[in-house]
Amino acid sequence: MGWAIALHGGAGDIPVTLPPERRVPREATLRRCLDIGVAALQSKHSPLDVVELVVRELENCPHFNAGRGSVLTSDGTVEMEACIMDGKTKKCGAVSGLTTVVNPISLSRLVMEKTPHIYLAFDGAEAFAKEQGVETLDRSHFITSENIERLKQAKEANRVQLDYTLPTPKEQAKETIVADGDSQIGTVGCVAVDSDGNLATATSTGGFVNKMVGRIGDTPIIGAGTYANSLCAVSATGKGEAIMRATVARDVAALMEYKGLSLKEATAYVIEECAPKGTAGLVAVSAKGEVTMQFNTTGMFRACATEDGYSEMGIWPSV
Ligand code: ASP
Repeated sequence: MGWAIALHGGAGDIPVTLPPERRVPREATLRRCLDIGVAALQSKHSPLDVVELVVRELENCPHFNAGRGSVLTSDGTVEMEACIMDGKTKKCGAVSGLTTVVNPISLSRLVMEKTPHIYLAFDGAEAFAKEQGVETLDRSHFITSENIERLKQAKEANRVQLDYTLPTPKEQAKETIVADGDSQIGTVGCVAVDSDGNLATATSTGGFVNKMVGRIGDTPIIGAGTYANSLCAVSATGKGEAIMRATVARDVAALMEYKGLSLKEATAYVIEECAPKGTAGLVAVSAKGEVTMQFNTTGMFRACATEDGYSEMGIWPSV
């Protein structure tokens, strides 16, 4: 038994033709964040500290859909959400509807540690952020020109889908641009276990491009996008509505707890049998130091490492 860590940068329909300018910076960030997480585990930081640290780094990277790189709602605004959970104590915190908080994951940890509640959203969450003195920036800081363009494309494609008419070749071409792997990917997450079997998970997202104002996805929902107990820690990504219906993260833990499945068996069952194809991916670690990264989408930005020297990084299925 040793420490293990895994992180993701979103699962979705990621075409293998993803241009290098979109692939390379994300790969570099994943590698850098994995190194940061490994170094923190090696210097005996708690898994809770490690997952928060790694997700903060991912939130600060504009190439992922969380924090600074969050995608835009149909009104062109940002509504960020995040969740953190400690396995042994099952303490957890979640936030939604943030518009100015630089690191939503750290605010979710403050909800966990400084309030009698688990989940704060919208105005109340923003007020709590001000009261706690966490770093905030003007809303405009989070609205990147790339995300303005993504929203424009999503709106155009959405009109095509909502019309229920067959798209013309020109409109089909527009849809292809939207489906370039950037419209619904980029949520970030991290799970970690130390050599004493302490587990933690953290997930952070901007949600979906062109989501309705007020929409809440699976990320901050305990047991859907994020869950940890004394057996495992899970962070999921993909289509939030499908992940919530399948209670993806909690089902992994339940299969281990009630059916005695191993981490790999439990995650494979949930990803292959429970979540509809093309909707979900996850990273998970167990108290025994096992790690797994699985998805039923075209790809998932991911990386992991274990104390015994195993390390992997990838986007598409490994052959
Ligand atoms: N699961 C996230 C959501 O539905 C999106 C993602 O994982 O990329 O908000």
